[in-house]
Formats: sequence, C-alpha cells, structure tokens
Amino acid sequence: MQSPPHLDEPPQPPLLRGPVHDECWSCGHAGAVPVRAHRLTSLVMVWVWSRRKALLCTDCARAELLDAQTHTLLLGWWGFPSVLLVPVVLLCNWNRLMAVRELPPPGPRDPFVVTAHPAPRGGQPLHRRPLVWLLPLGVLALVAYAAVVP
Ligand SMILES: [Zn+2]
Repeated sequence: MQSPPHLDEPPQPPLLRGPVHDECWSCGHAGAVPVRAHRLTSLVMVWVWSRRKALLCTDCARAELLDAQTHTLLLGWWGFPSVLLVPVVLLCNWNRLMAVRELPPPGPRDPFVVTAHPAPRGGQPLHRRPLVWLLPLGVLALVAYAAVVP
C-alpha cells in the first residue's frame, strides 16, 4: 500500500517566521543587541518602575529608550519619591542611549521575517517631542498665573 503523495514530499520550511538570533524584535533587521529601557510612573504614594528588555537594532533601541525617557518625564513626577527616582531612571536610560550611539547601524533584513514594523523606528529627539514640553510649560503657566493673580 502506498502512502498519499503529500506524505512523501519533504517538509517545506515555513515562508514567514519571527525574528531569530540577532534580528531586531521590532523591525527584523540584523545586528540587534539586548536593551533595557526603564519607565517610571508615579501618582501621590504609588509608583511603578517598569523595565522592558528586548533585542533591538540600534535605531529601534534608540526609539525605545527615547519613548521611555518621554514617559518618565511626563508621568514620573507625580508622586513623593519622584524627586529621587526620576533622575535615576533618566540617567539609566541616558547611559544606554550613549552606549547605543556607539553601535553600528542596523544590518540587512530577511524579507521573510514578520515583525511589527517593516523598518527601524528611529525616534524623534526629546526636544522635538511635544509631550516632553507639556510639564515644563504647565509649571511655567502656573508660576505666571500665581504671579499675576493676587
Ligand atoms: Zn529594529
């Protein structure tokens, strides 16, 4: 008795796959390195220090770290331990940003890798992110209001 013809064929590798080895988890480009980005969220007496570990290419790592900085600058200041914790989180991320700058640019991308982003994310610098300016401008507006209103 013969087996059905489809069982005699060698198994074909799947065409699409997730990132492996040194491919970026975000965009699939080669040359990814392990990155940890810290975020601090605080509200009065509660604070959450979260950490995201990922294998990212240089550009995606930069974007992830800048997103973490933006998050901490915007949402980290609203609790009691914030005065101590926010600078620590910002310095941790800043050190990693400086280390990522020294790494080579992302390598080529296998077209069969499936990721959330088809290209490295890059990320805008902090001074070009409108949300970063929200808190200092709000404090400035409060100070100006307090100076004007008797
Ligand atoms: Zn990437």
